[in-house]
Amino acid sequence: MTSGHFTHIHHGKPLIEWSDNIKERHDYVRKIKPKRERALRMALMIRVPDGLIPNAYNEARLVYEEVWRAYKEASRAYWEEAGHAHWEASHEEVWGVYEAVWRAYNEARRAVDWQAIHDASCHQKCPMRDPAATSIFARGKTLKQALR
Ligand SMILES: [Zn+2]
Repeated sequence: MTSGHFTHIHHGKPLIEWSDNIKERHDYVRKIKPKRERALRMALMIRVPDGLIPNAYNEARLVYEEVWRAYKEASRAYWEEAGHAHWEASHEEVWGVYEAVWRAYNEARRAVDWQAIHDASCHQKCPMRDPAATSIFARGKTLKQALR
């Protein structure tokens, strides 16, 4: 399965993020990130079991994604079909809806104990089990340094 919530898609916070296709991130890390960081980055991108993700948050996330897609589509359509003047007026209406849904999504996201979900899903020696750590590189950039 390539979509889902994963730990450490990025080296800092948030600890857990949604990915539509984690393989793209794997490819990016393998090609673009500094060689000495790659093993650690790959080792700590772990699929979080769906059962650990709270329903209220997940529902807010799905609504947000749907509205985001609709917003992008509406913006494109207004722009292409009606031109700039019409786009500005319509855009404000659509933006209002998008903003409200975005706020609800962020509230739902803030209500989740991501540290607890992280600790239940991530590597036993992950540096970010320490809530004060701000990066997977807190103990060094190599696998050996970080997971000691
Ligand atoms: Zn971790």
